[in-house]
Amino acid sequence: MAPRRPDPPDVLLALPPDAPLDEVAQAARHCTNCPLYRNATMTVFGEGPAPAPLMLVGEQPGDKEDLQGHPFVGPAGRVLDRALADAGVDRGAAYVTNAVKHFKWKPAGKVRLHQKPSAGEVGACRPWLVAEIERVDPRVLVVMGATAAQSLLGPSFRVTRHRGEWVDHGLDEVAPGARVTATIHPSAVLRSDDRDAAYASLVDDLRFAATALAS
Ligand code: SF4
Repeated sequence: MAPRRPDPPDVLLALPPDAPLDEVAQAARHCTNCPLYRNATMTVFGEGPAPAPLMLVGEQPGDKEDLQGHPFVGPAGRVLDRALADAGVDRGAAYVTNAVKHFKWKPAGKVRLHQKPSAGEVGACRPWLVAEIERVDPRVLVVMGATAAQSLLGPSFRVTRHRGEWVDHGLDEVAPGARVTATIHPSAVLRSDDRDAAYASLVDDLRFAATALAS
């Protein structure tokens, strides 16, 4: 039997089903559906045009994103910006978000060290991601990294095995007509022993995603 999905956040349930994306984003500021809001500065919701032909989903805000309140503005965001440009994708035409909207971290001296969100936290935040996908209505959805894949494609999906190809996603109710593909999270480039190769593979995967935008 499939595990029971966590209940949607109360502040999302309080919205009318057809609430526009900016109202959903406002409501997400008050979410307490999992413990992560307690130690984060603010909710970091997705940004970009809606509807948008391309939607990119990462893991969670990082230190810079948490302080500035915008997704992908830190080091991983700079990698993503460069990779999109090298793949010939207009970053301004893409909606960019994360599977989890609050920064999970632990203190290490003066720095805040990123912590991977738990399955429960990913599940608790999934209704926000679904609400975004429904409103962005992308033609192409790019899942970046294991946490985003866990949220949208299930825990058994392996990014390393299925990156750079179209995947059966089971998201037809959420994103009818969308094609879904996976790649590494841009932060994986920064952690790689061979950054050039990791970066080139990220660009290749984004270029593959862009093929469906051109048709
Ligand atoms: S991480 Fe997501 S579910 Fe958890 S409190 Fe933040 S917005 Fe709500």
